[in-house]
Amino acid sequence: MSYDKSNSIVLIVDDTPENITILGEYLAEYKIKVARSGLDALALIEAGTIPDIILLDVMMPGIDGYETCRRIKANEATNEIPVIFITSMSEIEDKVKGFRLGAVDYITKPFQLEEVKTRIETHVTLYNYRRKLENVNSILEQKVAERTFELTRAKEKAEEANRLKSHFFALMSHELRTPMVGILGYAEVLMDEVQNEELKVYAENLNESAIRLKETLESILILTKLESQTHEVHPAVFILEEKMNDLIQRHMHSANFKGLKMAYQNKSTSKEVYYDITMFEIIINNLINNAVKYTDKGKVSIESYNETHEGRLYDCIRVSDTGIGIPKEKQGLIFEEFRQVYEGMTRNFEGVGLGLSLVKKYVNLLNGKIELESEVGKGSVFTIKLPQWEKVEVIPKSEVKDSVVKLKERIAYPDKQKVLLVEDDRINVEVTKLYLENVCDIDIAYDGASAIQMAKRNDYSAILMDINLGKGLSGIEVTKIIKQLEQYKETPVIAYTAFAMDGDKEDFIKEGCTHYLQKPYKKQDLLDLINDVI
Ligand code: ADP
Repeated sequence: MSYDKSNSIVLIVDDTPENITILGEYLAEYKIKVARSGLDALALIEAGTIPDIILLDVMMPGIDGYETCRRIKANEATNEIPVIFITSMSEIEDKVKGFRLGAVDYITKPFQLEEVKTRIETHVTLYNYRRKLENVNSILEQKVAERTFELTRAKEKAEEANRLKSHFFALMSHELRTPMVGILGYAEVLMDEVQNEELKVYAENLNESAIRLKETLESILILTKLESQTHEVHPAVFILEEKMNDLIQRHMHSANFKGLKMAYQNKSTSKEVYYDITMFEIIINNLINNAVKYTDKGKVSIESYNETHEGRLYDCIRVSDTGIGIPKEKQGLIFEEFRQVYEGMTRNFEGVGLGLSLVKKYVNLLNGKIELESEVGKGSVFTIKLPQWEKVEVIPKSEVKDSVVKLKERIAYPDKQKVLLVEDDRINVEVTKLYLENVCDIDIAYDGASAIQMAKRNDYSAILMDINLGKGLSGIEVTKIIKQLEQYKETPVIAYTAFAMDGDKEDFIKEGCTHYLQKPYKKQDLLDLINDVI
């Protein structure tokens, strides 16, 4: 590296004028500064002269060269400046002492001027290199610090946005689920109660539309949850054939309406299976729903069977239809969010294009795979293959079945138990009362304070506790207070709520509720739960 010598300062520190003269003349290309003693040199530096190199005599009156060097090296502003000792002593220990103090080199008197010049050039060059490198380093460090700061800010902003998004979806979820209780509830009640055939069909249609609305809403909420947080899998035991029949039954009405045959064949050797029930239901529901939706004539066949891959047993479900089929080039795309074979204004089918992306995500979460064979005009076959999960806890399904039987027996007896319903939504109160009128006596508290008063005056067998009670105490606060009353220590308190984000259930149980029922719920789910707890 070449450098501008006329801008490089050489400080000569020597008490012998002849030495100064010789060196000064010989190094005339440099900017020469002179000090006649160590203290003078330090004073010069102190006054602002920062040399590029210091030629330092060892033997000087006052402080000697070694001490001068030590002080220069002790100063942060000057400790990097190369120091070359000028010495007439050539004993090895002196050289070592100089180097230990931080000198970079030494030259001996009498001077070999060519040698002096070369050494100075080398050290000034090295010094310049080092300074440049330090400069680059500090620029880099600054840039890294700036970038880190920007990234931290961006991360904080993203986290904040994510928090807001989660909050927004939690709110939406709650606000949309609550009125669904009324819509679905009354539709179910009407279907059961109405005798007139025409009105019965209206009620069934109302129920079907409400279920579709609920499922679309749930798909959107689930996908958003899947994007914003890690989704936990909560496996439980269920009977495969029973669950499949139940899921198929939900689509019977639409299939009949279109004149489609629907058949289920169970070739599986697995009686009980162990998966996340919600995920399993959503997967199968979407596949059957699509098969019916995209088929105009013929049939929808569903089959369950087993396969073994690499020593592992898989539960497989195949849903085949004789519908419109899917062109080869679209078969990958339909698993992406909001993508459909027929998009835009020309599309002939209802739907938002979320079903299959949910199916795919859930199948992945269950470590399974999904296969598709399809031919346009002939039909489609969707197959899911789920590796059997290792069981952690076993909840025999038979217990739940028993509880339904017990419920029916109970209805026949007049000794109905008292249940307190704490709920601020008038319509939800009405629906719940209708559902439970033959099962138990219900008292209603529309707010937390009344709930506590009523709990003190009565002895309820169970409490159905809405969590968001509008003004005043929340359901959780009310639960905590009631749970402190001696007669309620063992009483079941069901968190009966539209809070349905991941972790909500666990939070409510931690806070003192004993059970959880997510709104909107099916009549039978509420009956089963009430029967289980009282
Ligand atoms: P949606 O049915 O709401 O549009 P999906 O994600 O369930 O959303 O499906 C995406 C697309 O895949 C559908 O729009 C349709 O074009 C195609 N598709 C899915 N299942 C079938 C099927 N069984 N037969 C023909 N096309 C289907």
